Amino acid sequence: MASYQNTLLLIDGKWRGGKSGRTIPVLNPATEETIGTVAHADKSDLDEALAAAEKGFKVWRAMSALDRSRIMRKAAALMRERVDTIAALMTMEQGKILAEAKIETLAAADVIEWFAEEARRAYGRLIPARGPGIYQLAVKEPVGPVAAFTPWNFPINQVCRKLSAALGAGCSIIVKAPEETPASPAELIRTFVDAGVPDGVVNLVFGVPAEISEYLIPHPVIRKISFTGSTVVGKQLAALAGQHMKRATMELGGHAPAIVFNDADVANAAKIISGAKYRNAGQVCIAPTRLLVQDKVYKEFVDKFAESAKALKVGNGLDTNSTMGSLANPRRITAIESFVQDAVAKGGKLEAGGHRVGNKGYFFEPTVISDTPKDSRAMNEEPFGPLALISRFNTFDEVAEEA
Ligand code: NAD
Repeated sequence: MASYQNTLLLIDGKWRGGKSGRTIPVLNPATEETIGTVAHADKSDLDEALAAAEKGFKVWRAMSALDRSRIMRKAAALMRERVDTIAALMTMEQGKILAEAKIETLAAADVIEWFAEEARRAYGRLIPARGPGIYQLAVKEPVGPVAAFTPWNFPINQVCRKLSAALGAGCSIIVKAPEETPASPAELIRTFVDAGVPDGVVNLVFGVPAEISEYLIPHPVIRKISFTGSTVVGKQLAALAGQHMKRATMELGGHAPAIVFNDADVANAAKIISGAKYRNAGQVCIAPTRLLVQDKVYKEFVDKFAESAKALKVGNGLDTNSTMGSLANPRRITAIESFVQDAVAKGGKLEAGGHRVGNKGYFFEPTVISDTPKDSRAMNEEPFGPLALISRFNTFDEVAEEA
């Protein structure tokens, strides 16, 4: 098993601490123990990262798509070689079970390869002109250095998608990865460094998220912003990007419905939906949260779904017997507890779970509420965690309105 390591910044091809020497502690959410630190970037570090990204962009865009693609494919191969070490780091810092951490690491290799292939097929278009002797064409050009901000729920996947897309397009990037789960994304980035990506093309920073985004987004070197995280923060960052006329892509919170009709295979529906619900302890932006079930199968579905929630083995993600790990941070425990209390106080029925497990580690029971009140906070905010909200519907019109 890999031992946890302290995480450094990567600026202009060099792994180093922040100039101030400050570090941020990293906790294992399953034990609440401090397992390492992550370097903290201040403005002078960010200035160096910006200069490096500007320089790196010139080098990277001038490289042929084929050569860029070769480096990316090598990084993908290194991800596969290092899967066991990287997945263990992710479980230690994030809490998800090892099997899920391995899937995420291996899927990242596939994503890198996909973008490496896209890099070679960035075709343009010929546009018919109005008159003879005129040729009109549209060609794709890399937009410039990117600033990417990623969250803690999928420490590698979220960086990988932004990083691989940027590199495939010929852009350089500064990644602000999550301070709570820094080591596994740093290992992803190490595969690119080891694969031969030129200095400055990929830069990695950590620190105070708001300070970094407020500095990088308006900065003239940065031409594109990408953020994944909460809707509240996304609105702030999109507004800042708009003020400076920067392109921005936002992937924010979700509240996905899953619909079960009277003619469904109820046992199968319960199995599939609970698998999607409790993966990564429900901390997934596309996890089903509102389960809308038609009246004839309502009772059967609720019983079967609650059964599958109760059957999950909550425990340390490193223990191969665990089927659901801890939540990633104490904020999720507080949020889920208050959603449950509010929904039950307003008339919801607690069918399974509802409580924190033990008093060490951020473990929470897989939780099911039926007859969920429409005015409960969980129905109207982002219940990001192991909480399923079941409601009954009768007619198609009713469900269309709800969903
Ligand atoms: P949060 O809003 O504090 O932070 C969300 C993420 O954004 C974190 O990674 C954080 O480091 C970063 N962040 C926060 N402020 C920032 C800023 N000013 N500039 C740049 N980055 C900033 O919330 P949280 O407690 O970490 O997560 C709770 C909510 O976030 C959940 O309810 C969920 O809906 C949403 N979330 C969504 C995703 C997703 O995959 N779409 C991932 C994680 C969290």
